[in-house]
Amino acid sequence: MNRREFLLAGGLAGIGSLAAKYVDPQSSFHQGQIMTVLGPIPPEVLGSTLSHEHVLVDFIGAEAVSRDRYDAEEAYEVILPYLQKVRELGCQGFVECTPAYLGRDPLLLKRLADATGLHLLTNTGYYGAANDRYIPEHAYQETADQLADRWVKEWQEGIEGTGIRPGFIKIGVDGGPLSEIDRKLAQAAARTHTRTGLTIASHTGNTRAAMDQMEIFAEEGVKPEAFIWVHAQSDWELKSRIDAAQKGMWIEIDNIDTGSVAECVNRVNTLKQRGLLSRLLVSHDAGWYSPGEPKGGSFRGFDTAYTTFLPALRQARWTEEEIHQLMVVNPSTAFAVRIRKTTSGSLF
Ligand SMILES: [Zn+2]
Repeated sequence: MNRREFLLAGGLAGIGSLAAKYVDPQSSFHQGQIMTVLGPIPPEVLGSTLSHEHVLVDFIGAEAVSRDRYDAEEAYEVILPYLQKVRELGCQGFVECTPAYLGRDPLLLKRLADATGLHLLTNTGYYGAANDRYIPEHAYQETADQLADRWVKEWQEGIEGTGIRPGFIKIGVDGGPLSEIDRKLAQAAARTHTRTGLTIASHTGNTRAAMDQMEIFAEEGVKPEAFIWVHAQSDWELKSRIDAAQKGMWIEIDNIDTGSVAECVNRVNTLKQRGLLSRLLVSHDAGWYSPGEPKGGSFRGFDTAYTTFLPALRQARWTEEEIHQLMVVNPSTAFAVRIRKTTSGSLF
């Protein structure tokens, strides 16, 4: 960086918040590693990874959600075979995207990771999509910095006394333009990122919501490389995905299912042809055990990526190296804990 660029970066930093420039030395541990529910691993160990799945989701709402609503033993028994199956098919990394107040259960995940050998990741953050049904009351009263403090604490100390750390930040927003609470969640996510290096995966309502979040992250001094556009297939429009990927954002196509394989192949192929393979993540957004339903209700397995989607990519003349990039290199890069700021690290 030359002097002019340095001054420019410094000038832009002035626009960001103080929190964006503050790196908590307490939080700088495990940089460059992947944080699983069993502890940190080097990124090269993660392996073939599904970037967005769920083992348990409870849609009862933030006020009523509780672990008393299900028998963790029964949930474990129901979920285990689905994870064992996908492990046998070649999956090694599994990103569990259920946030707090929607049924996040780190101890259940730890047990499942122990039993299957999968590298399971859990998350910190709040989910502001679905018209705010899953936002706890305190999020309305507190500032973005106070919410970030809570999430950073989970990274530093583990979740709810379990010692299990989040591997990423999961937020959710409704369609844009972003509501006040959704803006606050995005700001809190950005500030948590700059203090921890955890990647932000955001359930994003529509294209406008993605653009609004990208703007907030830029204001906060967070690079697009730290942001996963979750459900990028909804409200699909190619140009905005190309622009976002070219800026460095992760584009997640996470609706793989038997009925959507052709469409998913088409989308990842189109982005690959534009030279954007290294920005893509794929998954099913499948599962899950639903508390309140007999035996957890209906459960969609995690197999289609391995049984149908990857063979379809091979048929579309993807090389093994390209498939390795999509399933192994991209997730291990996306979820490796590291602070990605638009301002120069040399400022500290
Ligand atoms: Zn999901």
